[in-house]
Amino acid sequence: MTRDDARRRSLPDGMTSAAASSSALRLQADVVVVGLGAGGGMAFHDLAIAGVDVIGVELGDYFAPEDMRCREEVMLPKLFMEGASRGTFDQAITVMQGKGVGGSTLHNTNLCKRLPDPILDIWREQGVEDLGAELQADFNSVEELLDVHPVPQDRINANNDALFRGARALGYQHAVLSQNRQGCQRSGMCELGCPNNGKQNAAKVLIPPALAAGGRALVHARVDRILTRGRQVCGVAGRAIDPQSGAELQPFEVRAERVVLGASATNSAALAIKSGLPDPHRLTGRRLHIHPGAFVMGVFDDTIEGWRGVPQSAECTEFLNFGHDADQRVWLVSGFAHPGAAAGLMPGFGAAHASMMRLYPNVAAIIAMVHDHYSGHVRPRDGERVQIHYRPDLAELNQVALGMREAARIFFAAGARQVIIPTSPPRLLESPADLDALTGAALGPFNPSMVAVHPMSTMWMGEDPRKSVVNSRGAHHQMRGLYVADGSLFPTSIGGPPQIPIYTFGRRVARALRSTLPAR
Ligand SMILES: Cc1cc2nc3c(=O)[nH]c(=O)nc-3n(C[C@H](O)[C@H](O)[C@H](O)COP(=O)(O)OP(=O)(O)OC[C@H]3O[C@@H](n4cnc5c(N)ncnc54)[C@H](O)[C@@H]3O)c2cc1C
Repeated sequence: MTRDDARRRSLPDGMTSAAASSSALRLQADVVVVGLGAGGGMAFHDLAIAGVDVIGVELGDYFAPEDMRCREEVMLPKLFMEGASRGTFDQAITVMQGKGVGGSTLHNTNLCKRLPDPILDIWREQGVEDLGAELQADFNSVEELLDVHPVPQDRINANNDALFRGARALGYQHAVLSQNRQGCQRSGMCELGCPNNGKQNAAKVLIPPALAAGGRALVHARVDRILTRGRQVCGVAGRAIDPQSGAELQPFEVRAERVVLGASATNSAALAIKSGLPDPHRLTGRRLHIHPGAFVMGVFDDTIEGWRGVPQSAECTEFLNFGHDADQRVWLVSGFAHPGAAAGLMPGFGAAHASMMRLYPNVAAIIAMVHDHYSGHVRPRDGERVQIHYRPDLAELNQVALGMREAARIFFAAGARQVIIPTSPPRLLESPADLDALTGAALGPFNPSMVAVHPMSTMWMGEDPRKSVVNSRGAHHQMRGLYVADGSLFPTSIGGPPQIPIYTFGRRVARALRSTLPAR
C-alpha cells in the first residue's frame, strides 16, 4: 500500500492513518491509550464519552465488515500478531493474539464469563484490594453494553451437542455458554473476523461512540517507547506501519501526561521493558499465564460439520477447580478449526494425512485448557515481536493429560467410534479402555501440539509495590501518569475466557484515571 492508498482508504471520522502522513506526526492530548483491544478499547471509550481529550494509538488496521473475507490465508496475517506465527520460544505452543482496531475481540469467539469468586479470593490474599460490589456493578454495566446472553438452544450445532451428550451421559457438570452477539448469521467464521458485523466487540460497540464523542484514533501506528520525564510519563513515540507490507515508515509522537497501556499481556510488558521503566523488583514481564489448550477430536458416524453455526456454546467444568492446591484444573470447551488449522492438527503425512482429513466432516472437537499454575515470562524482541518463555512442567502436563482423557471419555459417551489425540506419534483410541495410557509423563514439547489464546498477568495488580507492578486500579507503582488496562493486570490465570474481565478492568482503570484529571 502506498501513502496515497492509505490516505484514500476510508476511515471513520476521527480516525487517522499514521501511514498516510507524509511527515513525522506530532500530536498532543490529555491521555494516550496504547492498543484498542478489549481493555484499551474500553478505556478509550469511557474516557472519550466522559469528554476527556484522548488519543487511541493502534498498531493494526481498521476493518469494516466487508473487509472480513472469510479466508484463512487472507485474514490470519491481517488479524493476528506476527502474522499468526507467534509462539513460545521453542515454537511448541502457538500463541494467538489479535491486532487491529478491536484487538483480539475482532476474531474471538465471543464467550463471556465473569471472574470466578475463588479467583477474587486468591487475588485478595495476594494483596489486591477488595474489589467487592464495585466490580460486580462494572460487570453488570459491561455485560449490558455488550449485550451478553446465553446461546439460544436452536443455535447449538452438532459439534457442541456432542459435548453436551457425552457430559450428560457421564453425569459431568456442563453448561451453555453466554456470548456477546447481535445479528449473528451463524457463518461459523468468527475466528477470521465477522463478515456480518454480528459481534458486539470493541470495534463495533466501543470505538464508534468514542470517536463520535471526540476521541481521536491513530491507526497503523506502533508504539515503541513510553516517553518519560524523571518519574512522570509524558507520552509515547513509535513508527507508522504500512498496513499491507508491514514496512516501517516515518516516526510519530503523542505527547500526554497520562499513558494507558492496552497492548495486551505480552506487548504491554514488552513495551514497558523496552522503554527502560524503573522496575526495582524485576517484576515486569514475569508471571506470564497463557491458559494453554490441547485439542481432542472425536470421529462420529453422523455428519458433524463443526464449521457450521456458532462455534463454541458448550462447556464442561467437572474438572475445573480454582484452589491453590487444586489437583484438577482443566476447562473443557467445544471448539473447531477451519480447514488449514485442522490440517495442522490432524496426524500423519501424505496419503495417511489426506485420509484423516477426509474424516473432517465427521469430526467434533473439544479443547482442554489448563488453568495454569506454572508461569513463564515475556521479553521484547524487535518491532511487534516478543519472546515468550513458557514450557509447562510435569504438574501442568498432568493437567493436559487429564483434560485430554476426559474429553475423549466425553466423546466415547456421546457415541464416537474413534478418538484422535494429536500427540507425537498420534494416538487413535478405539474405546475408553485405551485412555489410561495417556499420562503427563508421556507428554512434552510438541507432544501434543498446543495452542494458547488467553495470555494474562505480566504487569499484575497489588497494593505492595515490592510484589506487584500496578495498584488495584491499574496505576503503575513506579511511574506517575502510567496505567495498565489489559490482560496484564491479572495476578493469576483466571481459568476461563478473559474478555469480560478485561473489558471490565478497562472500565475500572479509566474511572481511576479520570479522578486524577483536573475538573474542566
Ligand atoms: C482465537 C481466539 C479466540 C478467543 N476467544 C475468546 C472468547 O471466546 N472469549 C474470551 O473471553 N476471550 C477470547 N479470546 C481472548 C480475548 O479476545 C483476549 O483475551 C482479549 O481480547 C485481550 O484483551 P487485551 O486488551 O489484553 O488485548 P487485545 O484485545 O489483544 O488488544 C491489544 C491491542 O494492542 C495492539 N498493540 C499491541 N502492541 C502495540 C503497540 N506497540 N502499539 C500500538 N498498538 C499495539 C494490538 O494490535 C491489539 O489491537 C480469544 C482469543 C483468540 C486468539
